[in-house]
Amino acid sequence: MSAKEFRHFINGEWVSSPRTFENRNPADNSLVGMVHEAGEQEVDAAVRAARAALRGPWGKMTVAQRMELLHKVADGILRRQDEFLAAEVADTGKPVHLAGHLDIPRGAANFKVFADLMKNVPTESFMMDTPDGGKAVNYAVRAPRGVIAVVCPWNLPLLLMTWKVGPALACGNTVVVKPSEETPATATLLGEVMNEAGVPPGVYNVVHGFGGDSAGSFLTAHPDVDGVTFTGETRTGEIITKAAAKGIRPVSLELGGKNAGIVFADADLEKTIKGLGRAVFENSGQVCLGTERIYVQRPLFDRFVAEFKAYAASIRIGDPQHHDTQMGPVISLGHREKILSYCRQAVADGATVVHGGKIPDMPAHLAEGAWFEPTIWTGLAESSAVVREEIFGPCCHIAPFDTEEEVVALANDTPYGLAASVWTTDLQVAHRMGSALEVGVCWINSWFLRDLRTAFGGAKQSGIGREGGVHSLEFYTELRNVCVRL
Ligand code: NAD
Repeated sequence: MSAKEFRHFINGEWVSSPRTFENRNPADNSLVGMVHEAGEQEVDAAVRAARAALRGPWGKMTVAQRMELLHKVADGILRRQDEFLAAEVADTGKPVHLAGHLDIPRGAANFKVFADLMKNVPTESFMMDTPDGGKAVNYAVRAPRGVIAVVCPWNLPLLLMTWKVGPALACGNTVVVKPSEETPATATLLGEVMNEAGVPPGVYNVVHGFGGDSAGSFLTAHPDVDGVTFTGETRTGEIITKAAAKGIRPVSLELGGKNAGIVFADADLEKTIKGLGRAVFENSGQVCLGTERIYVQRPLFDRFVAEFKAYAASIRIGDPQHHDTQMGPVISLGHREKILSYCRQAVADGATVVHGGKIPDMPAHLAEGAWFEPTIWTGLAESSAVVREEIFGPCCHIAPFDTEEEVVALANDTPYGLAASVWTTDLQVAHRMGSALEVGVCWINSWFLRDLRTAFGGAKQSGIGREGGVHSLEFYTELRNVCVRL
């Protein structure tokens, strides 16, 4: 494939910067293209365009017109599905079948679902008695928040970006998106779809670059941004919260996790192995909701470990372009180095390496890629950094437990609180666990089963706020109360 150029998309046009950086395919380290790095000037132009669009045709459109355009955007993504697929696979190295059934369709669905939802959401109203014996009526109206900065990670680039851009636009806001420096392609392609659909210039803008002292920090510090929605690491979330504090701009944060999978002795083992196999290894373990800690009730422990090892050994690692490939590389050589350092730490802390832990032998054309084996450890103390810190790779630690109380304490003993999955055939245990675990999402006998109408977000250091369904309104709109003396 010939190398591309990824420019900014500002006010419906392609904008260049004097500085560029490389975007490499993690499967073989080949050059995908050169990415333009926005300076303060380009970021300012994007924010100005977003402000002007808000005051212009976009802000004046009827809800029905806006929703029609968002449906056209969704259809545009699906019409160009092959291009989105190729772009996402080249940027991330994820297997084509995964991007084809998850990332791209969900990217389109995020526009349709939120467009349909927003036109049907009511607001509250209250009649009241006034002190002089009269009446008044209160009713709420929702107004768009304004210009929203959308800062995105690299693991599910189109899916997570549209998960925010979809509701933001449905609510009447305009956006400036800063995709991850690792994955600039699909956000750029979406600019073309916006123009084809007839979305007015300035409604959707994209600026490329890095985080600190680059497009990310210029955007989140920009005084004319009205709110910042961010998905990424917890420590980046802290920096962005500080930036947004100046000017009292609200933030919505979807951050890291160290999610537990809990297997009771009565679980359906075959379904559990498959479910947790996905939870640990899908997208090479680079899913925020993924499982890195598994706790198994002691009577099932040895059998679970043996079967989980067999599952990991059966995963077909290989060329992302092949339709039967189950696992691609991790996002970059730098990220693989981070995962390797946790592998060294695990061994130093006395882990048994049940499976993996190494760079696999790959065919010559993939040898330069960021490959890593599915990895399973046992035998670590709960205090080990490997058990406490988010690794974000295809790896997990498995530990035994005896009682329900004990496993609740183990699962909750983390600064994170994003997700958990519980595997049991006992309904009462399932419901008790569902309310005892300190997480934003708890799955019972499933994982990553998402209904976009439900609240999504993290407890503790995994985030602030909830998005999804009507909950997205909390962040993307301002609720105004109108009180009418009758
Ligand atoms: P990251 O925090 O390194 O980067 C995310 C984005 O923030 C990138 O676009 C980056 O350029 C930008 N950024 C970095 N520093 C910045 C700064 N100082 N100011 C402004 N922007 C800045 O995260 P990542 O490595 O891209 O993604 C992986 C992380 O994301 C993991 O921790 C994962 O758990 C988390 N994640 C969370 C969810 C969720 O829904 N909770 C979903 C996906 C990923």
